[in-house]
Amino acid sequence: MKEIVPAPPPIVRNQFETIRELFTKNVVPSYGRFDLALSHGSGSYLFDVNGRRYLDLGGGIAVCALGHAHPAITEALVEQSKQLVHISNLYYHEPQGRLAQALVGLIGPGKCFFGNSGAEANEGLFKLARKFGHDEGRFEVITTINSFHGRTLAGIAATGQDKVKKGFEPTMPGFRHVPFNDLAAMRNAISPATAAIMIEGIQGEGGVTPATPVYLLGLRTLCDEKKLLLLMDSVQCGHFRSGRFQSFQRILEGVPGGDAFLPDGISMAKSLGGGFPMGAFWVRAPYADLLSAGTHGTTYGGSPLACAVALKILEVIEQEKLEANARAAGEFLLVGLERLAQTYPGVIQNVRGLGLMIGIEFAAGIPNLPGDPGKSQAVRLTNLLHAAGMLVIPAGASVLRLLPALNLTRGEAGEGLRILESVVSKHAG
Ligand SMILES: *Cc1c(COP(=O)(O)O)cnc(C)c1O
Repeated sequence: MKEIVPAPPPIVRNQFETIRELFTKNVVPSYGRFDLALSHGSGSYLFDVNGRRYLDLGGGIAVCALGHAHPAITEALVEQSKQLVHISNLYYHEPQGRLAQALVGLIGPGKCFFGNSGAEANEGLFKLARKFGHDEGRFEVITTINSFHGRTLAGIAATGQDKVKKGFEPTMPGFRHVPFNDLAAMRNAISPATAAIMIEGIQGEGGVTPATPVYLLGLRTLCDEKKLLLLMDSVQCGHFRSGRFQSFQRILEGVPGGDAFLPDGISMAKSLGGGFPMGAFWVRAPYADLLSAGTHGTTYGGSPLACAVALKILEVIEQEKLEANARAAGEFLLVGLERLAQTYPGVIQNVRGLGLMIGIEFAAGIPNLPGDPGKSQAVRLTNLLHAAGMLVIPAGASVLRLLPALNLTRGEAGEGLRILESVVSKHAG
């Protein structure tokens, strides 16, 4: 006999205005937020306070590696918190040691340091570079234009975008920027004060631009020749998002000499904790003991709770073969997006990316695009996609990023393409 299930109670309270008011009155307005208040999620779906469902292809900006409310993460949080949440870095504990071992195993011979965010991971690498160059009076780090390295004072000094620096001058000394993927520009920029080079394997905030194989290999040679540290900010493009643990591993696949490539330092965060705030950096063996006792630290870094979650995420990624899924789902999305770009050339100009890190570049000046003309096209398109039931992340004026969970299914990817087409087709002159 068919069971009679009562209809769910109608949602009568629109809490959005109330929540927004709390923010307007009490939260520093440093973020441009969308008009959405979210209450819960499951996998690649999020629900707003009105009960409306959204396909989440933004993944909390490349953070939610296993999607929302993954039972394995919940279990790791609950079980570890029954044992130990925090003890400080005055003592040893097993989860931090095991996580460091796992990351070293995935990258190469070296050691790890744990912090709480991407900016902090980069700060650690900048301090490493200064320590490395100190006795020779070298301190400078060269980064690239359109890079993003975080919002601390050193982070904004390192970031190759003026908009993050504006109003916070004087800029911290010791950072200069050169065009990305331009080896000659990097070589020319090196001065007697240079200690390191930092790049993203795939520029994220800058609009999803992968480094070329020639650039990566050339930088390695250049750094060896000039005795510089080669530092990679893998905060966004790392953790299997590209279809390999590190984006440089993916970019250099099948390239002669690619297997031997290793940078000297790698910063990580975002997907590392899957939403539990944490960051880390790895430093290659010859330099792994430069930051000796007392030279660097943070109270919360690598807590038993954070490390238990990160270890669980690595375990699920391996068990559920999410490295291969990121590659296959990413390829599926990219092929679908290329088809959309061909069908609607007046709207979509270009699509690019590796694995589940994809950028969709829209044509400049799409006619009659709805929304506040004072807002960028990327923001207006994001609003239209929200209305159609999908979350994406804007980058720059005209790029939308897809940074979904690594366990995104083929069905969900297909749904994303359909929603995008429904919005794009409306604006194809
Ligand atoms: C997000 C990001 C950061 C900063 O990380 P936070 O956790 O926000 O401090 C640094 N570098 C890159 C490439 C990023 O994408």
